[in-house]
Amino acid sequence: MMDSPIYLDYNATTPVDPEVLDSMLPYFSKISGNASNAVNIHGKKSLDAVEEAREKIASLIYCHPSEIIFTSGATESINLFLKGIALNSKYSISSILTTKTDHSAVLETCKYLEMQNVETVYLPLTPNGLVDIGKLENCLSKETQLLSLIHANNETGTIQNTNKIGNTTKNKNTIFFSDATQAVGKIKVDPKKDFIDGMAFSAHKLYGPKGIGALFINKDTISQQLLPLHHGGGQEKGLRSGTMNVPGIVGFGKACEIAQKCIKKDQVRISNLRNLLLDGIQKTKGIQLNGEIQQLLPNTLNLSIKGVEAHMLVEALESTLSISTGSACGTVSRKPSHVLQALKYSKDRIGSSIRISIGRYTNKEEIENTIIALKDIISKLRI
Ligand code: PLP
Repeated sequence: MMDSPIYLDYNATTPVDPEVLDSMLPYFSKISGNASNAVNIHGKKSLDAVEEAREKIASLIYCHPSEIIFTSGATESINLFLKGIALNSKYSISSILTTKTDHSAVLETCKYLEMQNVETVYLPLTPNGLVDIGKLENCLSKETQLLSLIHANNETGTIQNTNKIGNTTKNKNTIFFSDATQAVGKIKVDPKKDFIDGMAFSAHKLYGPKGIGALFINKDTISQQLLPLHHGGGQEKGLRSGTMNVPGIVGFGKACEIAQKCIKKDQVRISNLRNLLLDGIQKTKGIQLNGEIQQLLPNTLNLSIKGVEAHMLVEALESTLSISTGSACGTVSRKPSHVLQALKYSKDRIGSSIRISIGRYTNKEEIENTIIALKDIISKLRI
């Protein structure tokens, strides 16, 4: 069955899986105890559900459940880790290393930390947006540094080589934080294997609900307590005070359980659809892929369409296709993409770039109709 408009903006957010929704429903009313007040049956049942979800989430990323802290989403997880470490004098952080292609949740946090006298250093990138590993070592100093790196880019889909980077940082007094919001659920993510000390991810990017996310904190490498963002009842080891979002957490757990089961199958099916779309659309002249196909998430295509203004194309197709011109956050302000700017693309190429992100519910017929719709609108807009 086809939905109209066809939804191809899965990197912005994903629909909640019906099984996820079913798992959450009892926790809004029937089992509505406070998980942090497990002194009665209602509270105990809620707490059990939270801990079961924590196990499922930990299992998806191959870590121990005690290494998962619940937050409201990736933005909060990023803020909690970066500020919680950088502003804790016990860590003596001299600077934060990141890239100009990172998400605004990281870049804006770094700007805030600059006001607190923590310097930001932007790592050199290859033309495709990968961290230049050869040059990374020169950026690492003897002082303790914090590296914050987007695992898979939300606009281009480019996946960083976190394992090589983790191997470089592990012996260098550098704390390695990964923003894996776009990677978890789409590709295998194993932070401990990659020597990652902290990692953010979010339920609504993997068919779970909005408003719930997680921070992974590696218990083997992060020994000092992070400074919390806010203070209160001391939930989540004092790192995230406030009554727990039990339905959200249960849904997040279910979404991770499904992701673990489906990840390989989804990867193959979705990348086949992505390739079909790319082959079809590239038959039209003047289409450039922004990124290197072998380095991309299986579901993401960022394309520049010569002679076409991207926002006009997206608007003209509004009733047929839901796609985007960049990140979910950047499109509100309609500023040119900071990611493509960081890759030093020309103004024209940036202004003509669209992001198409495929997901679990996309089918072949939708991709075929997308190719037709895109070809048709491109020919009209080019006149
Ligand atoms: N990091 C990346 C790479 C993202 O794509 C997003 C969401 O678009 C975020 C962080 C913020 O996630 P959340 O919406 O869970 O705060």
